[in-house]
This record gives sequence, structure tokens and C-alpha cells, in this order.
Amino acid sequence: MDTPSFDIRPTITPTATNVRDEILSAPGFGQYFTDHMAHVRWTADGGWHGAELRPYGPLTFDPASPVLHYAQEIFEGLKAYRHGDGSVWCFRPERNAARFRQSADRLALPRLDDATFIESLRVLVEKDAAWVPTPQDASEECSLYLRPFMIANGKFLGVKPATEVDYYLIASPAASYFKGAGKPVSIWLSAHYNRAAPGGTGFAKTGGNYASSLVAQQEAIDHGCDQVAFLDAAENKWVEELGGMNLFFVYRDGRLVTPALTGTILEGVTRDSVLTLAPELGLTPEERAISIDEWRDGVASGEIVEVFACGTAAVITSIGQLVTENETIESPAGNEISQRLRTHLLDIQYGRAADTHDWLTQLA
Ligand SMILES: *Cc1c(COP(=O)(O)O)cnc(C)c1O
Repeated sequence: MDTPSFDIRPTITPTATNVRDEILSAPGFGQYFTDHMAHVRWTADGGWHGAELRPYGPLTFDPASPVLHYAQEIFEGLKAYRHGDGSVWCFRPERNAARFRQSADRLALPRLDDATFIESLRVLVEKDAAWVPTPQDASEECSLYLRPFMIANGKFLGVKPATEVDYYLIASPAASYFKGAGKPVSIWLSAHYNRAAPGGTGFAKTGGNYASSLVAQQEAIDHGCDQVAFLDAAENKWVEELGGMNLFFVYRDGRLVTPALTGTILEGVTRDSVLTLAPELGLTPEERAISIDEWRDGVASGEIVEVFACGTAAVITSIGQLVTENETIESPAGNEISQRLRTHLLDIQYGRAADTHDWLTQLA
């Protein structure tokens, strides 16, 4: 389909400037939302139609709407960054658009074409540009978090793919994801729960993966940890990822190892960007299986010098310790490489370093 032009229906009750300024001074994460949202509707008969930008607000559903019962849902997450000259950019949105299509295929939802996906980002960010926070200096990681999602709608309780679907985009001003950005986080190793299994939905960004990870995340918090790490479901041996972030291991000899994509790991845009930037920092990237024993023994022998997690929300976060039911594995004290990668990535995203990979798209 041709890129639709979105029908613009502005709110008649925009947030007052002083209220917005107060929100932007301490936005937290995912708590406040901008004045508008984008919407496109799909029906089996009519395809995608009715693209609009409309006031942000509650949705109404029929109680028999399939998303409420069978979780036929997918989402994305990316950020809009304000550069020093006031312009607003997003990072590799075509990767998110492509992943959204792959997730749609797995969840038997219709594909939204990439041009419509990216146009929805542009119309919302253009309209709500005043909601994109301005960093005061290079240490401040504020942005406008963008959350596209697609849900099965309609009215039936039969188990079959929906014939009515809605795509929405909402936006939320964000400070850094973890309190005290850059501080190492602690990880709980889930022994009882897996996130994904072969043939399942691990590679798709879908709410069900998160729903099933919450009890493990709660276990992590109960053990005083920040996040949970999952092993593979078949052997409970191979390291996969955290609930919402990919994992990397830095070796003393300069290798940078991350678990290979096997269908049970979400292919992070940040993961791919780190793999691309690694050689520029003198590192040798390696995608392969890594076992929990290699993690433990590598840290003990000093072979592994840093462990970190990465994702759009939290960028790059050092892992300070791994806690299991029987032991606590202290990660090496170093975070020099992960901090260099983090700074390099942020400098590109905020327009402070040259965009040599053509990763940025201007939105406003
Ligand atoms: C979104 C997500 C990531 C990180 O992906 P990015 O594109 O880097 O934000 C990693 N793991 C899971 C399970 C995710 O849902």
C-alpha cells in the first residue's frame, strides 16, 4: 500500500505548558504520555485504513475482544532523541518496523508496512515535539519513548486469528530506565522458569513473553536482584537473555561474545548495533552458544572481564553480580568496555558523534 496520510485530529485539551514542563523535569519511565496517539485500523475485508492522529485517551473494547482472552498482541519500543540544534531523531526505526512485521507473522496478525510504521512515528513526534525532553548535558539520557503496538479486536470467543485489528502508537517522555544510570545491576538466574522454547514466540516481541516472565522477575526482586536471566528451555544450560535485554560477555583477549540467535532470543536493535560498533573499539564480536558454566568459570578465572545487558530502554547496563539458588557469582569489577560502548552509542543517538552507519532518521 502507499504510505497513508494520517488524518490529524488535534486534542482540544492540550496539557498546559507549565504542567508539561514539570513532567519533563522528572519524567521517570512510562508514567506520563503525550497529548496524541496514532491509530490505523485493519479489517480482513478492507485491509489497513483510517490512519489518524487523535487525542491520547482510553480505548473501549468489547468484553469478548480476542486480545483480552488470547493475547494476540505485539509491540515495539524505540526512542526519539533531541539533538543539540533542537531537531528530533530516532535510531534505526526500519529495524523496528521489520521486527514488527516478523512479530506480526508469528502472532497471525496482519503486517503493517514499514512506511506506515515510520510515518506514524513522524506524525506523532512532529505534533508532540514539545514533549521530547532536552538533555542538559551528555550525562543526561532523556528521550521520548515510543511504543507502537497492534492488538486483535472484535467480538468473538472462538480461537482463530482476528479479522479486526488495531495499530496504535503512544509516546512517553523518559529519563533513564534504571535509577542511577550506569550503575551495575544484579541478576537472578531463573531455575524454575524459561522465557521461550524452540518453536515458541521467543523471537517475537509479544506481551505473552512478558506475562510469563513476571513471576521470575518477582523471584529476582524477592532475592534482592534487579533483573532475571533465563536459560534455554531444552537443556537449562545455555544463557539466553534477560526478560527484556540481550546479554554480552567481554573477554580479556578482546572477544565480545553474545548468545547466537536461535529463535528463542529476541533480536535486539541495540544488540545488533553493539555487534556492529565492536570492531571500531578493537573488539572481536562472536555470536555463539555460551553456557552458564562458561559464565561462572570465565568470571572465576578472569577470562571474562565484563558482563553487560543491552536494550533500547536501558541502553547498556553493567552486570555486577549473578545470584543463583546456591551461589553468588561476583562479576569482575571492570566496566570500561561497556562504558565505552555505551558512550559511543549514546553519542551517535544524540547527534554528538558522526552517524557513519546511517542509523538516524529525522522526525522533527
Ligand atoms: C525489546 C527486547 C530486547 C531489546 O531489544 P532492543 O531492540 O535492543 O530494544 C531484548 N530482549 C527482549 C525480550 C525484548 O523484548
